[in-house]
Amino acid sequence: MKQFVLGIDVGGTNIKFGLVDQKGKIVDRSHLSTKECISHKEKLIDKLVRGCEEIIAKNKLSKENLRGIGIGLPGLINAKEGIVYSLTNIPGWKNVPLKRIIEKKLRVSVFIDNDVNVITLGEWKKGAGKGKENMICITLGTGVGGGLVIKNKMYRGEGFAAGEIGHIPVQQAGRKCNCGGNGCLETLVGNRYLLQKAKRIFKKRDFSLEDVSKLACQGNRKAVQFWQQVGEQIGIGLTGVVNVLNPSCIVVGGGVANAYAHISGPMLETIQKRAMRVQGKMVKIKKSNLGPNAGIIGAQALVEEEIKFRAK
Ligand SMILES: [Zn+2]
Repeated sequence: MKQFVLGIDVGGTNIKFGLVDQKGKIVDRSHLSTKECISHKEKLIDKLVRGCEEIIAKNKLSKENLRGIGIGLPGLINAKEGIVYSLTNIPGWKNVPLKRIIEKKLRVSVFIDNDVNVITLGEWKKGAGKGKENMICITLGTGVGGGLVIKNKMYRGEGFAAGEIGHIPVQQAGRKCNCGGNGCLETLVGNRYLLQKAKRIFKKRDFSLEDVSKLACQGNRKAVQFWQQVGEQIGIGLTGVVNVLNPSCIVVGGGVANAYAHISGPMLETIQKRAMRVQGKMVKIKKSNLGPNAGIIGAQALVEEEIKFRAK
């Protein structure tokens, strides 16, 4: 009998649903807008349930061939007990036992985790970090996220808050950060700040980071320098991580991944120049190869990992 996992990626504008077969192929997908309901807890839960019910009905899935549902959410998640402690920039979510709520409604096993952890699991099990015993993942976007795989296991920390690579301080003073700190990596390479910087440098009001990438591809010197500096700044932040954790590989994902070709070189050079010899020599940098599917493939990996772990 064919078996499937339903992977769900909850974002600020969309909930993406994907039905994944045991080979890791997405065989059906759908999405619902979260725009009008993201801060309304009950409405968002209803949407999650409705989206699941639709895809289950459409594919005529029974309890026997749906192994579980995996959900990645942007926030602080107790993955062990399935509780959403809080969602980033979304009020109204505090200590919500989401796993239990959805399991009760759908009668299927549900596993939840932080979205960047889910992406990391996806890259580790099926993507660019496949088979690595020690790897880290960094996602570049509005926020700069990170996930850690240590000794073949996702590392979530004492309070499920580990992996916040974007909040490594890289400047002594520096800009105030969303997290309450100062001079975090995210205040230098988060999309919002990069866009401000790009508009200033290129003296254009209507300008996107995609435009900077295009210019860099055409060899525009200012654009190349722009991404080079971004790569160096990320490299400085990651040097500390590399020295502490000695990973074999760093997978780069997220929105700015389009600029990967321009930032990966300076990133690696910076790490090799500044990290300790053994750690710096070992580490490789790879581009995410799951791209926009990382959240769904990762949610499948989460379900499989949890089923395996709980069966022990
Ligand atoms: Zn911060």
